[in-house]
Amino acid sequence: MAKSEKSELTQLEGVGPATIEKLATVGIDNILGVAVAHPATLVEVCGMTEPTARKIIKAAREKMGFGFVDGITQEESLKISRISTNSKKFDAILDGGIKSGGITEVYGQFGSGKTQLGHQLTVNVLLDNPKGVVVYIDTENTFSAARIRQMSRAKKADEEDILKRVYVAKAYNSDHQIFLSEQIESLFKQEKQVVLIVVDSVMAHFRAEYVGRGTLADRQQKLNKHLHTLQKIADIHNIPVFVTNQVTTNVGVMFGNPEQAIGGNILSHTAREIIYLRKGKAGSRVAKLVDSNYLQDAEVSYIVTEDGIQDLEE
Ligand code: ADP
Ligand code: MG
Repeated sequence: MAKSEKSELTQLEGVGPATIEKLATVGIDNILGVAVAHPATLVEVCGMTEPTARKIIKAAREKMGFGFVDGITQEESLKISRISTNSKKFDAILDGGIKSGGITEVYGQFGSGKTQLGHQLTVNVLLDNPKGVVVYIDTENTFSAARIRQMSRAKKADEEDILKRVYVAKAYNSDHQIFLSEQIESLFKQEKQVVLIVVDSVMAHFRAEYVGRGTLADRQQKLNKHLHTLQKIADIHNIPVFVTNQVTTNVGVMFGNPEQAIGGNILSHTAREIIYLRKGKAGSRVAKLVDSNYLQDAEVSYIVTEDGIQDLEE
């Protein structure tokens, strides 16, 4: 039996095998996916007219029983969970930690501590969720099982148990990275309780592969699709997505920080919270919340030790 025949999308009027196959290429393979899709996506991917796209989305929404809910119910259903950074002060500027339901981007220079933070969040969320698993997409080959063990030991956790629940996928190029992100949905179907997705780093492959002006539009489009996939998973399953990003130095900036995250607007529009990391005095690290939809910008210092991220002693 063709894959498209068993798809639940056959329940939607006007959706046939060809459409189902096309939708699958952008990771839409169930009714919920259609219900939350943008009409333009369906137009672009399936070559249908916009009215048709709207009709199909409406049908999917009706099937899902989407409707109005009061604010309290909405708040309940979207109860944001948080992962501690392991530093009380760092958590404080983030209103508790890294949040579920959206993308958090951390950017900074090489050695600023982005990967350390990714590892720390991984250990902490697995400790909080005894049945959870973390998906760690590693594009720079910097994932370290040894580091996970160190941080787990510092928490008196069973290091084997923690490590077993980290699903590390090495991404060899941007296409592969996109592919991996699209596979995450299948983990949920296997009843895996994914509690965090880390992409470290999100832009490295895109930056290396797409050089020159002519290829920029193509890069943005692919990146957009990738971020959309991550965003959708964060949203539908109410989990945190943590991505790291490198910086470029913008020589045109006279005042303020000349270092900017790669990828520019596209990323800043998708990420809900953006944190800038840099090295501070005497081996410390400085984290600055530079963008949030409800928190004010703030800065905090902490240290990275063998045990992981720690508050600075006063
Ligand atoms: P980025 O990902 O931003 O390039 P990393 O997260 O890899 O940077 O940070 C590397 C830094 O983390 C090292 O330079 C070191 O200061 C610190 N670090 C890594 N492992 C340890 C450890 N076991 N003990 C203390 N500090 C460590
Ligand atoms: Mg790194």
